[in-house]
Amino acid sequence: EGFLPFEHEPYFAFGDAAVAQQQRDAYRRVREQYVGQSFPMILNGERVNGAETFEVRNPADTREVVWRFPKATPAQLEQAIEGARAAFDEWRFSEPFQRASIFKRAAELMRRRRMEFNAVMGLENGKNWAEADGEIAECVDHFEVFAREALRWGQGKPVYPMPDEHVTMVYEPIGVVAVISPWNFPAAIPLGMALGAIAAGNTVVWKPASETPLSSLLLVELLFEAGLPRGVIQFITGTDDVLGDPLVDHKDIRMIAFTGSKEIGCRIMERAAKVQPGQRWLKRVMAEMGGKDPTVVCADADLDAAAAGIVQAAFGYAGQKCSACSRVIAEDSVYDELLERVVQLAKDLKVGSPEDNAVLGPVIHEGSAQRIMGYIERGQQSARLVLGGGRAGCGDREGGYVQPTIFADVDPKDPLFQEEIFGPVLAFTRATDWHHAIELANDSEYGLTAAFYSRDPRKIDEARRRIQVGNLYINRKCTGALSGTHAFGGYGMSGTNAKVGGPDYLFWFLQTKTIAQKY
Ligand code: GLU
Repeated sequence: EGFLPFEHEPYFAFGDAAVAQQQRDAYRRVREQYVGQSFPMILNGERVNGAETFEVRNPADTREVVWRFPKATPAQLEQAIEGARAAFDEWRFSEPFQRASIFKRAAELMRRRRMEFNAVMGLENGKNWAEADGEIAECVDHFEVFAREALRWGQGKPVYPMPDEHVTMVYEPIGVVAVISPWNFPAAIPLGMALGAIAAGNTVVWKPASETPLSSLLLVELLFEAGLPRGVIQFITGTDDVLGDPLVDHKDIRMIAFTGSKEIGCRIMERAAKVQPGQRWLKRVMAEMGGKDPTVVCADADLDAAAAGIVQAAFGYAGQKCSACSRVIAEDSVYDELLERVVQLAKDLKVGSPEDNAVLGPVIHEGSAQRIMGYIERGQQSARLVLGGGRAGCGDREGGYVQPTIFADVDPKDPLFQEEIFGPVLAFTRATDWHHAIELANDSEYGLTAAFYSRDPRKIDEARRRIQVGNLYINRKCTGALSGTHAFGGYGMSGTNAKVGGPDYLFWFLQTKTIAQKY
């Protein structure tokens, strides 16, 4: 199957002073090279501007405009879709080996620039060094994994034989895929969806989140540098009124690959169901949405490991991951002890600027901070606030800094237990025993990730069978899925369970042809 063996991209050791200095230097170079610039869209391989531009701001200090991107016009959206449609005529017949070679080359190019990519992301979405590094390393993994997946699916699958017919089953691409992606993983998430589409032989209209377009643009340029034919990705930026519904509704879009909120995911699902005049297929929708991810801690668990895993998963990137731990469900006999340990760890988390690698940075923008504060204020009427609960300062910077916040004794009916907050807010709920804990873990419309801490094989076995999530982690934290290994995607209202980075992912972007031949 080519290109073996595989190894996940190792992370940088920022504890090493020399490595830390390289990251600081990369920030300095990114500031020199990129800050203040206006960047283009890329349509049919051409760098083009729009009628107007929009500003991208640094969440660490929102007074700083870091760069600008074009607002596409409706005509440019037409051009992008038409370009992708035309490019599909050739790319659909490209060899899987050609696709794989481009991805391998892109992986090589990216390895040399990881620090730069980290810094760009830090300035756009406020990830600290380690969080950005995790995501950029995941991008390198995606290139390596999708290279292999392109080859694997290119071979078709065997069928049960017949004596008098030669029968094969092959997978063919489907058409133009719209990739619509969020700001919290502005590199790895759209890249995963786009590589899935391209590895299968489709073409892409890529609309990045408006908060984080440069993290996406750098990847698109890297793919072209690695040899991807012009037209296979159309990179278009701008406002949702021009690029939201009109892109989803367009008759020439074959599939929408979306990651983002439940609200938008449901809207896309509904709109895509409508067959437009001239449309010659039923649209496919991949929608990866939110989470309300629990960590269950049993009485026999290693409480230190559990506390450390909870704090990382709840407060890493200020809780702005759909995989983030937002509920802790602990057995009665260890509840107080665990709560105490988690609070001890969380209260030492230093709030600060991601550029200086602070553990806890800002949330994406002021609107988000206010929404989170709304949950915190209402939560104080229904639950016991044990840590945080307010805005945090960061020198004279202006940003959405929110203290790490923990509520105890949260009722399962409470919004703190049921709704995705997408911020550094954690709810503790007491379970009478471990069966009850599993029941509470499942008391959610979401089902993305969960962590389960116990040393008892009987309980673990029960958890494996009963916990209703797409990614279940036993005795480890519930964030940080690795491409190729932890196929990622949820149950229930977490979405369509596409399982990016998994062995079945490419099937989403393919259709199957059976060919029976008599001689
Ligand atoms: N794949 C990421 C993880 O496992 C989460 C992606 C997301 O939050 O959207 O932590």
